[in-house]
Amino acid sequence: MQRRKLIAGNWKMNGTGQSLGFFDEIRQASEANPGVDILIAPPATLIHRAAARAGRVLLAGQDCHAQTSGAHTGDLSADMIREAGASHVIIGHSERRADHGETSETVRAKALAAQAAGLIPIICVGESEDDRRAGREQAIVGDQLEHSLPAEGEFIIAYEPVWAIGTGLTASESDIASMHAFIRGQLANGPARLVLYGGSVKPGNAAGILQLADVDGALVGGASLKASDFSAIISAAGKFVNHAE
Ligand code: PEP
Repeated sequence: MQRRKLIAGNWKMNGTGQSLGFFDEIRQASEANPGVDILIAPPATLIHRAAARAGRVLLAGQDCHAQTSGAHTGDLSADMIREAGASHVIIGHSERRADHGETSETVRAKALAAQAAGLIPIICVGESEDDRRAGREQAIVGDQLEHSLPAEGEFIIAYEPVWAIGTGLTASESDIASMHAFIRGQLANGPARLVLYGGSVKPGNAAGILQLADVDGALVGGASLKASDFSAIISAAGKFVNHAE
């Protein structure tokens, strides 16, 4: 039996005010699994309204700018996200790295800005399909960790193999276990960190992934859009934590 688990949902560019009923729909699973921490990253436009509905569910932004203010049309600072009601922010998601050309250095600057604003960054790393085929996955993830992580302060890591995101493909349990052990090894000199797995986590595979000792939880994309699927993943996590904690 383990410490707590964190189940985080990333809604990406999905959701309007009508989606906020989700927080009522997952309440039963939330109450039945008090040893599971739950987090939702809605679009930034919903954070403020979600804060009124979320109960014990934590809220996150999906990105923030590295600067505190300025001429950056369309961007949001970490302070704005925190003030809207978030406690966390996802940084360096592979879709941001790919669509917006974010480098690990950008990711680190954003993570530092998040920490300075009082947010906990959830920093995403993960190899491409080509990298894994070539056996370079640890080299790539090791490099991302080296250049993306702040030297100190609180942060969470999400290992998300890019080829498993939104594809229905999931890394095998042994691949996940060995990458999480590798990540733990890279962090061995610092304080304990949560390391989440992300990549097509669904109700059907969640228990197999969440039972792994080095997996502290999941970052869930597609299955976080449907309250029944997300509730099932919360319940799967609940099997592996001590409910008294
Ligand atoms: C994600 O976008 O972080 C993710 C893991 O998505 P999905 O669960 O849909 O693969």
